[in-house]
This record gives sequence, C-alpha cells and structure tokens, in this order.
Amino acid sequence: MGRVYNFSAGPAVLPEEVLKEAQDEMMDYRGTGMSVMEMSHRSKTYDAIIKEAEADLRELMNIPDNYKVLFLQGGASQQFAMIPMNLMKNKVADYIVTGQWAKKAYQEASIYGKANKIASSEDETFSYIPDCSDLPISEDADYVYICENNTIYGTKFKTLPNTKGKLLVSDVSSCFLSEPVDVTKYGVIYGGVQKNIGPAGVVIVIIREDLITEDVLPGTPTMLKYKTHSDNDSMYNTPPAYGIYICGKVFKWIKKMGGLSAMKEHNEAKAKILYDFLDESKLFKGTVRKEDRSLMNVPFVTGSDELDAKFVKEAKEAGLENLKGHRSVGGMRASIYNAMPVEGVKALVEFMKKFEAENTK
Ligand SMILES: *Cc1c(COP(=O)(O)O)cnc(C)c1O
Repeated sequence: MGRVYNFSAGPAVLPEEVLKEAQDEMMDYRGTGMSVMEMSHRSKTYDAIIKEAEADLRELMNIPDNYKVLFLQGGASQQFAMIPMNLMKNKVADYIVTGQWAKKAYQEASIYGKANKIASSEDETFSYIPDCSDLPISEDADYVYICENNTIYGTKFKTLPNTKGKLLVSDVSSCFLSEPVDVTKYGVIYGGVQKNIGPAGVVIVIIREDLITEDVLPGTPTMLKYKTHSDNDSMYNTPPAYGIYICGKVFKWIKKMGGLSAMKEHNEAKAKILYDFLDESKLFKGTVRKEDRSLMNVPFVTGSDELDAKFVKEAKEAGLENLKGHRSVGGMRASIYNAMPVEGVKALVEFMKKFEAENTK
C-alpha cells in the first residue's frame, strides 16, 4: 500500500521530501557511520544540527535577538504548568478560554495562583473567538494567555487580544509556521511540534529573555525552569535529539518553499477550496463562525451521526485517512497543515461531492 492523504490533527502529515531525506540518512548520517538517533548529543555533528535548526527557525520567524529559542520535552501540556510556575510572580493570570486546550491550561494555572477566565466561547461549543478588544484585564495580571489556533474546534484568532500592556502568552501548537508572525507582540510563543513541524516529543518555546529568571514559584523543579534550559542552550540534559533533527529538516523545507508568506498563501488557497465547497454543499456544513475559521483545522458535519460515520469509513477506503472529528465534538475534521499538498484537499472535496450525490435525493 502506498501513502494516503493523512488528515490527522496530530501527530500529522510531514513533507515527503523530509521523510525521504531522513530515510537516506538513517544508517549513516553524512559519513559519520551512524544514525542521528545513535549519536551523542554532545558531539560536534549534533551540535551543528541543533544550532542550524535554531538559526533556520530564527530566520523563518524573524525572531529578535532578545528572545530565546528552547527545544524542550513534555509536550505542549507540560507548558500549561511551566508557564505559571515561571511567570506568575503576582500569582495572577488572565485566560481566554476558546477550547479544550485553553481550558486545560487555565485549570492547570489555577493550581499555582489565581487564574481568571476573562473571556470564553464555551456557551456556543467554542465555535467562535470572543471579542477581545476590551476585556477586563486584571490590574496585577502577570500575563494574558491564549490558544491561538483551536485544533479541536477549528477557530483561530485573526487579531491578537488587546492585553492592555500585559504580557501575551500564546499556544500556537496547531498553527506554528503556518503564516508570518510578529514575535515582538508576545512574551512567550510555544507549541508542540507534532501538529505542523515534526515528530511528537519536542515542544518549542520562544521566550523573551527578560522573562527568564530564577524568580520562579517555590518548589519549581530544576527541569521545569526556563532558566535551566536557557543557560544550557536546550542541552541541560539529553534533548529530544532525533525529533529536533527532523524539525530542522522541516525548517529547511519551509525556507525552500519560500518562507512563511509563501506558506500562508499556500494554506489560504488550500483552505479556500474546502470552505468554498462547505459553503455551497447541500449535505456538509462547517461548524465555525466564518470570520474565525482556521486555515489548519476544518471541522464539518452532515447533521446525521450515521452519515458522518459512513463518510469517515468510505473516505478511509478511498485513501483519505483520519477524518473523524475529535471525540468531544463528533462529526468530521480535516487537518490541512503545511505539509498537506493541495492535491490532498482537492481529492477530499471530490470525494465529498461524490458522497453528497450518492447520499442526497
Ligand atoms: C495538541 C495540542 C496540545 C497538546 O499537545 P501535547 O504535546 O499532546 O501535550 C496543546 N495545545 C494545542 C493547541 C494542541 O493542538
């Protein structure tokens, strides 16, 4: 069996070119006689890999010198705790709750201090982004937290919240490197890489240097201090070495594709094909308010659980995999990350048209 079009929300599709390169280098990485998996992370060869990955990411995102780039473990979920442990100096933070991931982050922060839910879209199953232009930001908030692209519900912040001068912390797991970003607007940008960048096991944290201090909550473990990792260039202990190597290859692939502006154009074109069809379909419906639609995760339904299940099953048989919606919302979800070729989206829409013709009278 050949490769399928994989619409998984994560771990997700990676560029075929990257996988082939990794395959070519699997047994003997550039004359070293070993795989990157087998290599000391303290070796000259690996040092070049991680340094080049960081340099390429800095170039792609235009990351200013006063921001550190950290390659960590523990997934995006570990950041739900690391952020309050390191940043909650006043023990107050404001959370905008636009989905399950933001909610989990909010709940985790409540363990360490006073987490305020200053806005939420839970009243309508997280199908929109609340107006964040004039929120009741707490006077003594250490930061304002958002999940920028809501993987499960398919919404995206098109404008950042007005934080009234407070630090912005953003989980970009499912929109990382999907479009250009102004890093200077954030205190912390972080994301698990398994959605849009690489294999699970790596989380990238981009953090303004002045936020990295020893002044953390009492009892914060050494491994959960940003300072530990920053002081040691992500090499305090063994980093997720092979995962970082693959991320580095994806950074090079994005550079070759033309960088983040080109990525954005490519992603907009793909998403338009799918959303245009959803808007005219007699059977399928998008579930998200139009202005807030994500370019990366596209949830849709037929209105019948039975037809949804039939669709997912028949799509799989046609080589269109992982279209089942998240277990908390049902229906379908097509994740069309950077590495999903436009042909994959076209094949999906063709299949949806055929399914619609066969299942409507
Ligand atoms: C997947 C996801 C997470 C959780 O990532 P883990 O690496 O599994 O902890 C958090 N936030 C967002 C937006 C995600 O899409």
